[in-house]
Amino acid sequence: MGLYLKNATFIDWETLDFKKSHIHVEPGEKGKLYFVDSIPLKTHADQVIDCEGKYVTKSFGNAHHHSYSALARGMPPPQSTPENFYEILKYIWWNLDKNLDIDIIEASALFTAAESLKSGVTFVIDHHSSPNTIDGSLETIAGAFEFVGLSHLLCYEVSDRDGMQTSLEGFAETGHYLKTAQGLAGLHASFTVSDHTLKRAAQLIQKYKTGIHIHVAEDNYDQNHCKTNYKQRVVERLDNFNLVNNPKSILAHCLHLDDAEKNIIRKSAAWVAQNTESNLNNGVGHFNAKGLGNNIMLGTDGMHSDMIRSAQYAWFSGKEYENISPAEIYRRFRNIHYYLESNKYKGDGGNNLVVLDYDPPTDLNKENFFGHFIYGINSNHVQHVISKGEVVVRDHKLTGMNEDDILLYAREMAKKLWMDMKK
Ligand SMILES: [Zn+2]
Repeated sequence: MGLYLKNATFIDWETLDFKKSHIHVEPGEKGKLYFVDSIPLKTHADQVIDCEGKYVTKSFGNAHHHSYSALARGMPPPQSTPENFYEILKYIWWNLDKNLDIDIIEASALFTAAESLKSGVTFVIDHHSSPNTIDGSLETIAGAFEFVGLSHLLCYEVSDRDGMQTSLEGFAETGHYLKTAQGLAGLHASFTVSDHTLKRAAQLIQKYKTGIHIHVAEDNYDQNHCKTNYKQRVVERLDNFNLVNNPKSILAHCLHLDDAEKNIIRKSAAWVAQNTESNLNNGVGHFNAKGLGNNIMLGTDGMHSDMIRSAQYAWFSGKEYENISPAEIYRRFRNIHYYLESNKYKGDGGNNLVVLDYDPPTDLNKENFFGHFIYGINSNHVQHVISKGEVVVRDHKLTGMNEDDILLYAREMAKKLWMDMKK
């Protein structure tokens, strides 16, 4: 049983070796790939995808996403115009997340899953916030993601910005979810969490043997707040609660760090999630990995779900601010697989694949792969997507759910959300 990719050109995502072969894709969580000389005669036509002239490689992952922001595109401007990072949060995102109900969360998650899969992303690490609908929010997102075939690592973004009761509800949702599912302990950012909350987070990650997922020094506001209120810097503060040196912990952004903080991260087992487009959009600064070590992954920070695009932006920005190589961008783009595998998270095995319908005007081979990855390939070339050995996107369309139904539901929920945000 399983799927056959006929006459595929397989690109090994680690070695970049090319191999022309039929591929047998085993289904299931632990399904593997086999290069085979022939396809069994009795194989049903539905189980064979003709990949002649197509490239097959491992599918992609997003290390920092916010599915809850999916219905923000095109929404009316906030009633007050934000003039800095804190006001962007206050006037836009903290108004949006307070108005999320369970249906809007579900619609946002379904759309995010569809958008992710169609751009070749089969694994999303999501950071969720909905302060007035906390209970059941993670199960709702997990259900929507799984319904269309997206694997995930979720967390609820605990914050004290809406009072301690809301913060405790966030921990309750996290604990409840982690009893049965793989996930992280989410925190918003240093500037919205008290020492009590950090202590609780430390207890929680010990209890469930997980790590934190938090925004770190996205803007200097975070550092200034920490220095004023705690007389230390953000990474030092998190490290004092033993939240950093953990192979599961994800620190998103990490823009405004001094050498001592970078040392803490470099010597720790934690991972950094870079979000170039979001940083440009918020005007908060430019990512520079110097001194941070090798554990860097890429995310979209809720801007969209397209990881090829995210990698290309990271390249253009990195050229200007980090003197980066194409190989380094590709390494960061693929690092999520090492993060997931080394932490034994499920859903990113070898049978997660994309079939690229990419017909370049020049040769594509191991030697010039990066040139095509950065300047040629984009998510429009993602023709089929295989998640855990099952075809979840066939000819650019979801197989698990009617996309028109998702869009209809999303638009209906977006209207409701935007209306509620005006009140
Ligand atoms: Zn974020």
